[in-house]
Amino acid sequence: MERRTLFVDVLLPLHLPDTYTYRVPFEYNDAIEVGQRVVVQFGTKRMYSALVRRIHENVPQYRTKYVLSILDINPIVTEQQFLFWEWMASYYMCYPGDVMAVAMPSAFRLSSESYIVIHPDFDGEYGSLSEDEIKIIDVLSHKGKLEIGEVSDIIGYQKIMPLIKSMIERHIILMDEELKQRFTPHRTAYLSLAERYRDEEQLKILFDSLQQKSATYKQLLVLMQFMQLSDFGKKEIKKKILTDNKELSSSALDTLIKKEILLLSQREESRLQEYASQADIDSIKLNDEQQQAFDSIVASDKAVHLLHGVTSSGKTEVYIRLIDKTIKEGKQALFLLPEIALTAQIINRLRKYFGNAVGVYHSRFNTNERAEVWQRTMDSSDNGYKVLLGARSAVFLPFHNLGLVIVDEEHDNSYKQNDPAPRYNGRDSAIYLAHSCHAKTVLGSATPSVESYFNATNGKYGLEVLKHRYGGNMMPEVLCVDMKEAQRKREVQMNFSQFLLGYIKEALSHKEQVILFQNRRGFSLRLECDVCHWIPQCKHCDVSLVYHKSTNSLRCHYCGYSIPVPQECPACHSTTLKMRGFGTERIEDDLAIFFPDAHIARMDLDSTSQKKRYIEIINDFEDHKIDILVGTQMVTKGLDFDNVSVVGILSADNLISFPDFRAYERSFQQMTQVSGRAGRRGKEGKVIIQTYQPYHQAIRDAMAGDYESMYKSQIVERRVFKYPPYYKLIDITIKHQDESVVNDAAAKLANMLRQQFASRVMGPEYPSVARIRNMYIKRIMVRFAVGEAIGEGKRIIMHQADQLLNDKSFARVKIVFDVDPQ
Ligand code: ADP
Ligand code: ZN
Ligand code: ZN
Repeated sequence: MERRTLFVDVLLPLHLPDTYTYRVPFEYNDAIEVGQRVVVQFGTKRMYSALVRRIHENVPQYRTKYVLSILDINPIVTEQQFLFWEWMASYYMCYPGDVMAVAMPSAFRLSSESYIVIHPDFDGEYGSLSEDEIKIIDVLSHKGKLEIGEVSDIIGYQKIMPLIKSMIERHIILMDEELKQRFTPHRTAYLSLAERYRDEEQLKILFDSLQQKSATYKQLLVLMQFMQLSDFGKKEIKKKILTDNKELSSSALDTLIKKEILLLSQREESRLQEYASQADIDSIKLNDEQQQAFDSIVASDKAVHLLHGVTSSGKTEVYIRLIDKTIKEGKQALFLLPEIALTAQIINRLRKYFGNAVGVYHSRFNTNERAEVWQRTMDSSDNGYKVLLGARSAVFLPFHNLGLVIVDEEHDNSYKQNDPAPRYNGRDSAIYLAHSCHAKTVLGSATPSVESYFNATNGKYGLEVLKHRYGGNMMPEVLCVDMKEAQRKREVQMNFSQFLLGYIKEALSHKEQVILFQNRRGFSLRLECDVCHWIPQCKHCDVSLVYHKSTNSLRCHYCGYSIPVPQECPACHSTTLKMRGFGTERIEDDLAIFFPDAHIARMDLDSTSQKKRYIEIINDFEDHKIDILVGTQMVTKGLDFDNVSVVGILSADNLISFPDFRAYERSFQQMTQVSGRAGRRGKEGKVIIQTYQPYHQAIRDAMAGDYESMYKSQIVERRVFKYPPYYKLIDITIKHQDESVVNDAAAKLANMLRQQFASRVMGPEYPSVARIRNMYIKRIMVRFAVGEAIGEGKRIIMHQADQLLNDKSFARVKIVFDVDPQ
């Protein structure tokens, strides 16, 4: 028989522009498939698990290395996913390998700077080992584990790869960590009663016989315990329950199993909990508005729809009906949320109807759990997931038949990944993904992004509107306090106006709850010398340090650098150092003075870095164990509480005055979202905005809840000042430890770009923080009008950046692209 010589092009999870070609050993000819992982050697010393992208017979010009082994029996990545990764790389100006590194759960991403260890099954029989193998085993038994690189130092590089491979195959060694972490399902042993003893008569005979001899008395004890736990043999139980009981004899148990009185079965156990659905989908009766939205989305031939519904209008119920329809058509649905911390409420709502068909995917799961969700997404049997819920990274799951994508709170900027590459927007990527699967996308928000609203009003997207809160609940009344005026009248105490304090007091007297919102930006506590105005700065970044009460220290929010609070000013030796600004910690403390009996909790980045704590706070607030919740952005996001009558926005000015073309849009969104937490379920809530600029248009629009007015003013500005949606922006960040190198590199790159793109190029400029972690930073912005050949433009920009880096003096400069920056 003629033997074909096959080659594979493989994708490595590295920042590399191309795939690499390897030769397939003949014995793998029949096994190899696109989408499997293979182990390959890359560079002089490294081995990686790479993905087979293509299989072909084109003999390369150069000598190729062999594929060392195949790791999967079936492909774990689909063609559709590869295409999606390739699109993402080209759109966001990085490489498919960068995307692969982010897209695959790390359990699959076995890199090979990995370690080898002696296989636990190895019997220590040296007779069958070669001299080199014995060397390796000797070192391993001393050191425990070795990096492959070290092994090649011991026995010479040439021989190492086939040797390691053969030893792995013979179960003499195995790859520790990553390679060993290959996804292994949990196995659990169960015990059940043999069929014939389910008959009462038989069972009685058995008991009698065991009772008669003292030798079988221990078996009797085990059996009795089993009967009790198994509801008299009706259910099976975990074997572990019996073996954990020290009073029972394990050999007696083994005898019962040997005698086939108890039957042992091993089952693969999911690491993920199982849930049954509890409610019938038909129990959801949509109201007229909701039904209209549902019908029009279903009937429309538009690929993308914007569901613009005020807070609490019942968007989620519409999503649930759409998901139900999708599942019934045999397809999968993807439900994206901006932040996974927010999922607790929504998971419960989805599981209520779809039970076990709901999978949740997020970065805080451990690698094996993520791998399992991955596999159950791929699984098209009944056991597979039909609804996948997650934050942006859920777009990378291996859907086999995607029919619907929902992007809830689509305006939220946490959909954007800032670091590392790919710096992608989960919403926009989801739209592309859906498009490539011929699936529908529904974007939902009470405060849509200007970009999406633009598309919805110019006919590119469908637009559905829910104007009313569900069940006739009223929108909250929004009031505003002129802080300048209040201060003049001496009606401000520690950042609280009398007006706001009065409403809080009243709410508390009715046992109603209060949410106070404080923007994170610029409102942290800083130390300042009262005499010379010295402010402590970070050693590594151009920012001032922020006070942290819990550790009584000053900390940098960019790099984590921290120092104890100084006792005197190092510049003038004055001891009058004062705190400036007010953070959520401070608000929490001050509130305790006004409301000593109230239970006050704080939810911000510092107090919720742990997901558990976050969920606890939410639960406590839901259970009314907390009266006043003080928080940053986190409290604005889609939480649904039923007893909040007052929402206070402590300083709106900070929102409005942020120097960013989205500041107005964002402040409107945040004020409206946080207002939406007030007065759900039958109560009219009050929202109180404290501001020094009560006549600012953003405040007026937020007070009136007038999205259209905000949109109209913004869309004009965006056109005049050349911003999205009329223009596409690309931020180019140039970094280096040496300030003059950064300046030279940035100037040179800007020059090169200007020759191509003329006035589309802005900068270079220093960003607002011009040094982070000892790296100096400069920024260039390129903007293309929509309709220009942007794809081509991106390729040219990447090429020119590569050219710049080829210049020896710039070799260590870092260049980062950010497409559609947020
Ligand atoms: P949104 O997502 O638009 O903020 P929700 O979907 O959370 O609004 O709905 C707000 C509240 O109204 C929820 O408690 C929800 O259960 C209830 N609700 C909305 N629509 C319906 C419906 N058709 N039937 C029963 N309850 C509904
Ligand atoms: Zn001083
Ligand atoms: Zn720092």
